[in-house]
Amino acid sequence: MNVETLDELIAKNKVYCSMGANASYIPALASVNPNQLGISLYHIESKELISAGDALVKFAIESMSKVPALLLAIEDNGLTTVLEHINTEATGFAFNSPLNMEINHDKHPLNPFVNIGAIETTSLIKGNSPDTRFSRLLTFVKEICHDESISLNEEIYESESKTGDINRSLAYYLKGNHMLSGDVDSILEVYFKQCSLNVTTVNIAMMASVLGNKGVKPWDNKRLISEESATLVKSVMTTAGLYDESGEFSAHVGIPGKSGVGGGLMGVAPNKYGIGVFSPPLDKSGNSLAGMKLLKDVVEELSLNIFN
Ligand code: GLN
Repeated sequence: MNVETLDELIAKNKVYCSMGANASYIPALASVNPNQLGISLYHIESKELISAGDALVKFAIESMSKVPALLLAIEDNGLTTVLEHINTEATGFAFNSPLNMEINHDKHPLNPFVNIGAIETTSLIKGNSPDTRFSRLLTFVKEICHDESISLNEEIYESESKTGDINRSLAYYLKGNHMLSGDVDSILEVYFKQCSLNVTTVNIAMMASVLGNKGVKPWDNKRLISEESATLVKSVMTTAGLYDESGEFSAHVGIPGKSGVGGGLMGVAPNKYGIGVFSPPLDKSGNSLAGMKLLKDVVEELSLNIFN
């Protein structure tokens, strides 16, 4: 794949920017320029990075942060313990629905990528204050994205926190079901902050490449996470990374993916590429519309569908 082909695919799919809508329930996301589409691909074997379009624009990581948060919770507690708290089941409900915990017999969150499961995940990150837990997560995100400059977007954080009543209700619901240990406000502070990190498509491509390379950072060949946890996370991304649209995404794109309401989309082509995509307008499930179309074209062009 060369940059010219990527430029062509961006030009082809840009039309979809006008067919979705920015997330509006977080006011700071509503004001982002909707007419943006960018992509980065990091090739695991050659360590070559190619980018096109709005690849270097900074945007809020949002739900893609649920991936590093889960990886850190697994490093902190072990996979078995994390899976005692959170299931690995698909959902047919919106990402912020309380039904994502109600519709199962054991009253555990259905998976770590719906909000109720992600809040549970964040509560499992170790540290004796919200500051310590957030700073441990930020250090981990910087490492897995290979970028020391990643930082908190204060405006998004304030907006998230001010309008976060659904997430508050999910956290109290967890607490009422004896699923959260610790102070609800402190856990939500870390959750809102993790969603408000500024990233680029390059950062997301790097993170995806670590998952694609079985937990070893391709750029320095050092292991960051266990192979077991990389495998588990990729499989949950395949069944639940795009919420109630995960089945469609698997059927029509065909690689493990994770979206965020900031317009980001992460794709993992195992042993081949880490991919980061960005385009703010979302479809009804909260996934980047142009981003998914572009990723589908790139996966086809490079024959990356894992089910082929
Ligand atoms: N911060 C957002 C929320 O909690 C993240 C959701 C998302 O990206 N789907 O609502």
